[in-house]
Amino acid sequence: MKDTHKHQGLRKKLATVLEAKGISDKNVLNAIRKIPRHLFIDSSFEAHAYQDKAFPIAAEQTISQPYTVAFQSQTLEVKKGDKVLEIGTGSGYQTAVLLEVGAEVYSIERQHELFKKTSLFLPKLGYRAKKLIFGDGYKGLPEIAPFDKIIVTAGAPFVPKALLSQLKVGGRLLIPVGEVTQIMTLFIRKSAKEFEKHELGDFAFVPMLEEKN
Ligand code: SAH
Repeated sequence: MKDTHKHQGLRKKLATVLEAKGISDKNVLNAIRKIPRHLFIDSSFEAHAYQDKAFPIAAEQTISQPYTVAFQSQTLEVKKGDKVLEIGTGSGYQTAVLLEVGAEVYSIERQHELFKKTSLFLPKLGYRAKKLIFGDGYKGLPEIAPFDKIIVTAGAPFVPKALLSQLKVGGRLLIPVGEVTQIMTLFIRKSAKEFEKHELGDFAFVPMLEEKN
């Protein structure tokens, strides 16, 4: 687990690339400069860790592209102490960004292999989520709800009602919706019954898995 000056230099460059693509949130850019992304991916891809690309991780899943992580983090408008639910822990990279910008993070992962691996790995880097959960993101986390923010990092075929219902009034749900490619969709809860919906462009994610069993 080595983090060198060279890695740090590459991260600075990556932050500059993301800035040029429209990321302006200082806290998010600082998180990108700080988190050793090369340690979140398979060592065979290490040389490319700071390119703006997605890479395979375990269980046929991917670590999201840095631009996507930065875009989602910026759009959530996380404030220090916000209670955030993440669906799709994966490598834990997005989780680390949320922790760096001051969120209290609850994160659900459907693949047991990834859940185990990331549960061991994040604390080694000093990243402590409130809770990492092996479970089904379609259900959210009713026992901990309501949340200030909910972020989904897998392509959802539809918007799960449970997630909308677990938002605080004023809260934000950011979810890529679609079967093949996805439209990044932001819901802002205006009142108990009203949600404002914004469509924020096309993205490509691995699919959100239906409940097993
Ligand atoms: N944020 C992660 C993205 C991983 S890809 C990263 O950057 O590393 C999407 C993740 O969502 C995968 O790990 C996948 O296993 C998980 N996932 C898919 N369907 C899910 C579901 N129904 N509930 C929880 N996690 C799910």
